[in-house]
Amino acid sequence: MQQMLHATVMEDKIKELLASIVHPETGKDLVTSGFIEHLATAGGKVTVVLRFAKARDPFAVKIKNQAENLLREAFPGSEVLVVIKEGGAAPRPEPKLSTTTGGIAKVIAVASGKGGVGKSTVTANLAIALRNMGFRVGVLDADIYGPSQPKMFGVEGYLPEAIVEEGKEHIIPAESMDIRLMSIGFFIKPTDALLWRGAMAVSALKQMIHQTRWGTLDFLLADLPPGTGDVHLSIIGELKIDAAVIVSTPQQVAVADVVRGVEMFRNENVNIPVAGIIENMAWFTPAELPQNRYYLFGRGGARAYAEQNGVDFLGEIPIVQSIMEGSEEGRPATSTHPEVEERYRAIAEKIVSKVMKNG
Ligand code: ADP
Repeated sequence: MQQMLHATVMEDKIKELLASIVHPETGKDLVTSGFIEHLATAGGKVTVVLRFAKARDPFAVKIKNQAENLLREAFPGSEVLVVIKEGGAAPRPEPKLSTTTGGIAKVIAVASGKGGVGKSTVTANLAIALRNMGFRVGVLDADIYGPSQPKMFGVEGYLPEAIVEEGKEHIIPAESMDIRLMSIGFFIKPTDALLWRGAMAVSALKQMIHQTRWGTLDFLLADLPPGTGDVHLSIIGELKIDAAVIVSTPQQVAVADVVRGVEMFRNENVNIPVAGIIENMAWFTPAELPQNRYYLFGRGGARAYAEQNGVDFLGEIPIVQSIMEGSEEGRPATSTHPEVEERYRAIAEKIVSKVMKNG
């Protein structure tokens, strides 16, 4: 009872704070505008979903930051998250792949020719960008060589619980920032012998694919192991992947590996549409020289490859300190940095329109 009272007091306080933020264009505050779609104050967390009337409100990110700052100041011990949604409810893809407990509409694989190009970072940030667009998102971390999603989402050490419902066993995914996450990292230790990673990893992956209680998802992003190989073919055989996104850095060697990745998906026995290539670490801009771009790994290699091979180019992400820090802190930068969010949102919009078009 006391806890319920406390929650009501907190919610009133939150509304009072949000009522002090005025939309510069309409001159109306967030409460009067009816922008508060959802408000929750459970488990030391304050979550607010703001739905803006316009599909692309230029003030949305600024207002989100203002709201987060005010709430963090008012509730210093709480984790604060303000999610922005824009326009009417986002169109939801029809569920296609049925799981034990619901349906997953679209499965998107994120792949790379080699390790270290930022595939996992891109997966986590794309997941947040899709969530910000109003989609229900899950992440399946199938990177058996370096599962890093638990760290990216701040849920390292999570032990998936297994439950039996109607005679079937399910495993419960972790949940962080409204994203459901299942990772092979919850089952293997980094020190486990490499040998373990072949057959046993594949059987663990199969279990994760078929038994995770995802519920209903609009998008499941699968973070694949780098490269191409038997493990990939096993995953592709189990998951009905709707589209693949390939991450590369601009280096020529990285781009050469992309070729094999694209060929794997395009192979006639696999036949998965490649939605496009994302060039990560495209350039570096130091904070003190915001106009300068240093092309540390060469310039535009992935874009050129994409253009020459009839693969769409989805966008480029520069090297940004906040992206690296976001991964370290368990909070992908798309959830905290407006300029990073903008880049990822543009890429996510392209991917959504492609996979929705493909039916
Ligand atoms: P992969 O999954 O391809 O092995 P990761 O996503 O683990 O690569 O990224 C490798 C390292 O590079 C991580 O430390 C990550 O934080 C960092 N990183 C990735 N992309 C960026 C970026 N755009 N800016 C800054 N650091 C990045």
